[in-house]
Amino acid sequence: MPSVDAIIRSAPGESCAPELAEGPWTLDLGTPGYGPGSSMGDVIPTGSPRQGQLPLEYQHASNDQLNERIRAAKQLLGSRAVVLGHFYQRDEVVQHADFLGDSFQLANAAQTVPDAEAIIFCGVHFMAETADILAKPGQAVILPNLAAGCSMADMADIDSVEDCWEQLAEVYGTAPDAAGRVPIIPVTYMNSSAALKDFCGRNGGIVCTSSNAATVLEWAFERGQRVLFFPDQHLGRNTAKAMGIPVELMPMWNPHKPLGGNAGSDVLDAKVILWHGFCSVHKRFTVAQIEAARAAHVGVRVIVHPECPMAVVDAADEAGSTDYIRKAVAAATEPTTFAIGTEINMVNRLAAEYPQHRIFCLDPVICPCSTMYRIHPGYLAWVLEGLVRGEVINQISVPADVATGARVALERMLAVRPAATPVVA
Ligand code: SF4
Repeated sequence: MPSVDAIIRSAPGESCAPELAEGPWTLDLGTPGYGPGSSMGDVIPTGSPRQGQLPLEYQHASNDQLNERIRAAKQLLGSRAVVLGHFYQRDEVVQHADFLGDSFQLANAAQTVPDAEAIIFCGVHFMAETADILAKPGQAVILPNLAAGCSMADMADIDSVEDCWEQLAEVYGTAPDAAGRVPIIPVTYMNSSAALKDFCGRNGGIVCTSSNAATVLEWAFERGQRVLFFPDQHLGRNTAKAMGIPVELMPMWNPHKPLGGNAGSDVLDAKVILWHGFCSVHKRFTVAQIEAARAAHVGVRVIVHPECPMAVVDAADEAGSTDYIRKAVAAATEPTTFAIGTEINMVNRLAAEYPQHRIFCLDPVICPCSTMYRIHPGYLAWVLEGLVRGEVINQISVPADVATGARVALERMLAVRPAATPVVA
């Protein structure tokens, strides 16, 4: 099966944005934005990192030339550098990865290579921050293209969350109940800035992933009467609903409105307050797509990511993290038709890896994650050859005072038992 990149280049009209067929460096010096792809309609916050121009020699090199340069640089660097590739990266980058995984698996993978002086994170900004927080002293974490942010992570900023927290303290007070549970516990999804992880560390909170969100919420409810969940409303809602919490007790917090746009009584009754954030990749999946898949393929097994809207998760057969989806496909012993609701690069890779199954993306339009797509082999060759010359390009460094609290919140997550089951089955 051709890669997503090859499909887009041969028929750009079949994608959500024909500009995807161009090199991502065409955007580096233009209007700041997430670029073409799923999150191109989202608003990028001011102050987001800007990528300077990629040197022309990398822009003009063919894919074969870039592959050769990447391989040669990796060989020269040996164990001094490790390349991490997220499941949602294009195949042209993933083929050079020493480890492939989701954000947390990759952050853990980085810890298994203590000899590496440089960790090249082919993912997005918050992932590189997490790797830096967990890295050994002296290890440099590199993001090949600084414009590879995450539109969902950028939907919750530290000032808005601090402001929300102050307003909630006025409503709830700070005194624990008779069982010793504090009024509210902050829980941040891994897909958030280091500043928000630090906020959770400083305020008795914790980090979760899409694999362990239910376990983390249980941990939070043992210690608090309610949860403030950010930035992804869908993961929070889908997880809490599967745990039996009524959706009426999950008001949404809009940071641009007083009390998040809620009546005081709704905030008082809340069990989970959901931040107004979402992933533009997973927001594209619809119930109509599931109905079309069921009509076209009798017996199709529909698996979606819990970042999808609640109606989509409810209409699917199963919902789970990228790791869950991979394991579900790998465990199918009979030839099966799978319709999958997650990023297109991962779905196409699964289809190529498991030819005994029919595997397709629920969304018929090719629309990769805009920001993951900003990492191109040209940027990977550039940072690797920089390391060969002794130059560290695009290092991501989390300030020590932020890293301390963030590490506390991450370590709390590591101490809780990981969820073995999907969010909804
Ligand atoms: S897929 Fe969604 S959550 Fe993941 S990096 Fe892209 S925008 Fe962010």
